[in-house]
Amino acid sequence: MRRGPQRTKPILPGATIGILGSGQLGRMLALAASALGFRVQVYSPDTDSPAGQVAAGEVVGGYEDAAAIARFAAEVDLLTFEFENLSSAAVAAATRHTVVRPGAEVLATAQNRQREKQFLSAAGFPVATWSALPVPANREPSERPSCAGTPHAGGPGVDPAPHEVGYPAIVKTAGFGYDGKGQRRVEGPGELAAAVAEAGSGSLIVEQVVPFDRELSVIGARSPGGEFRAYGPFENSHRRHILDLTSAPVAFADALRRHARELVRDLMEQLDVIGLLCVELFQVGDRLIVNEMAPRPHNSGHLTIDACETSQFEQHIRAVCGLPLGDPAQHTPAAMANLLGDLWPHGATPPWPRALAQPGVKLHLYGKREPRPGRKMGHLTALASDTATAVHRATSARKQLG
Ligand code: AMP
Repeated sequence: MRRGPQRTKPILPGATIGILGSGQLGRMLALAASALGFRVQVYSPDTDSPAGQVAAGEVVGGYEDAAAIARFAAEVDLLTFEFENLSSAAVAAATRHTVVRPGAEVLATAQNRQREKQFLSAAGFPVATWSALPVPANREPSERPSCAGTPHAGGPGVDPAPHEVGYPAIVKTAGFGYDGKGQRRVEGPGELAAAVAEAGSGSLIVEQVVPFDRELSVIGARSPGGEFRAYGPFENSHRRHILDLTSAPVAFADALRRHARELVRDLMEQLDVIGLLCVELFQVGDRLIVNEMAPRPHNSGHLTIDACETSQFEQHIRAVCGLPLGDPAQHTPAAMANLLGDLWPHGATPPWPRALAQPGVKLHLYGKREPRPGRKMGHLTALASDTATAVHRATSARKQLG
């Protein structure tokens, strides 16, 4: 069902924006919001957080604590979020106290892979063939998926059982999964029981491995008035299931680029997303398959800060506040390389001047004190006259740090 535009008064600079979550996405959102003249309060269980360091205020509270989230909501003119692992019921309840964008329904759909895949399949978006896995009898009933034993597939009308999904496949936790956490590859249905047992707790899905040519992402922005803009497609590569490198512009047939952006527009309208929606896609020949979506700024959009007329962070703030959307056009070819905690062996700080000495290279650090392997500590964006040179600059600047 398509939803019509919602028209409300814009939230203007000078107002206070509350962000649930305090990581690097919150930090870059807070910086963009401050530049536009908003005051920013962040909410998370931590103090001295990446976002809290640059915001006007930092409120400490749990992500499941509906009463504390309600109190926080009552103090701000608009509530938004920078990650999905929070209680959608608490976010829904916060709508009694302030404007909440994107809405709790969007959060509930995107934060759980099973609900996400159910939505995508039912709406006819192309996804890898998948099935919910029945939760073993020895698990808590509350952990049982509502549709255990009623599997879904890559399109409407086809319902394979878990053993018919197509192998190799990947078993994924339905909730609280990100950066490949909670994923196990299985070569055949005979390995399913062991993967389920190993997964510990919670609902699971299994989906066929897609033999993709490349991984892409498109970030859409939509305002309450229904205005839509899109970034990308960006090309992404992952290491250990964590985003490693993003580059753009991508050599791409115009028709496929239009199709990718239209798909995101359609998704945002059907889900009624106000704000940003990042859609990760697998490209197989001239087909696009949706992997997952996130209703917030995304790691693959970090290059928009240095390479686009309007960054994804500014665009999110414009969209949720009901302000005119900015021009997302990319003015310079760019590549973004993530800096993980692995670059800090034994806690020693990487030699930043070496990366900064590279032409066209921008350093972004997130203010995290504890470098851990796999933890996103910062990123480099390299600009150049073409994408291949930008990729070379970003990767060689990162090598200088290792
Ligand atoms: P996710 O957390 O689902 O985004 O998965 C992280 C990464 O694992 C993806 O970006 C892909 O590189 C890989 N991956 C996940 N699901 C699949 C799949 N069905 N087929 C192939 N690769 C996948």
